Amino acid sequence: MSAQILSGKEVAAVVRSRVADRVAALKERGKSVGLATVLVGEDPASEVYVRSKHRAAEKAGMLSFDHHLPADSTQQEVEDMVRSLNADPEVDGMIVQLPLPGDLDGNKAVETIDPAKDADGLHPFNLGLVVLERARLQPATPSGIMRIFEHYEIPTQGKLAVIIGRSFLVGKPMALLLGAKGVDATVVQAHSRTRNLAELTRQADIIVAAIGRPNFVHGSQLKPGAVVIDVGINRTDDGLVGDVDFESAVEVAGAITPVPGGVGLMTVAALMENAVTAAELSIA
Ligand code: NAP
Repeated sequence: MSAQILSGKEVAAVVRSRVADRVAALKERGKSVGLATVLVGEDPASEVYVRSKHRAAEKAGMLSFDHHLPADSTQQEVEDMVRSLNADPEVDGMIVQLPLPGDLDGNKAVETIDPAKDADGLHPFNLGLVVLERARLQPATPSGIMRIFEHYEIPTQGKLAVIIGRSFLVGKPMALLLGAKGVDATVVQAHSRTRNLAELTRQADIIVAAIGRPNFVHGSQLKPGAVVIDVGINRTDDGLVGDVDFESAVEVAGAITPVPGGVGLMTVAALMENAVTAAELSIA
């Protein structure tokens, strides 16, 4: 039996159309919505991501501001750029595209962002609000994944969710969102030191794979009928692949996100949601 495909394309279209409606409603009140990006260096993958964010912002009716700094920029120059966007009244949300090149400290740059303009939802203040279950600007990738659960009405209450990965970008906030009151999954957070990972994944009703290793999770390690969310984006000789071996997993899982066409699109959609939320809050 083949799993249901959880289409990021389909869900992102719904989310982005809701965002466009909210942007239009703000415009009627005389408030435009502006999203700024800060890209440092020439990393081709980062350039692709940033372009897709601008396209999405413009499609939603937002203003988008593209700031590109050379790879040899200093930490001070990157942070000064962020501070100037903090002070710019046309900018409601901003993104510092990570990773930063060389020795530049991405975490420090993100900490310079005004938390009220943190479109990625990665500032420590906003991550703290996730812990308190009061976040308005949520970390974009986990937030986009939650939209997939909502759209397809995937039950989470009392389900065993195994999250592989504990980065502050994906794994950790994902665990918090899935374990939050009202979502109510029972969460296991796995990482590189986890023993007998396959024993855990074979019990999981929900698996979120955020590892950064191509085809790491095989269908034989899944419980039949499990919901599989593949966050991984790995560039290989065979093209873009996820952290889940799709071919084998699709035969065992009940539902699965494809790569590409899954979580990546949801991250961009969730960013747009954060930007419009930031604009709404700025005039509330
Ligand atoms: P990361 O910071 O490198 O974290 C990877 C996590 O995987 C770490 O917690 C690590 O454990 C764990 N891990 C590594 N090897 C493992 C193993 N053998 N068994 C179990 N766990 C293992 O990566 P990330 O930023 O979270 O990103 C993960 C993947 O998602 C990457 O492919 C990235 O490109 C992709 N991504 C996609 C999107 C999207 O929009 N689709 C957004 C962000 C990231 P330790 O903590 O013990 O080292």
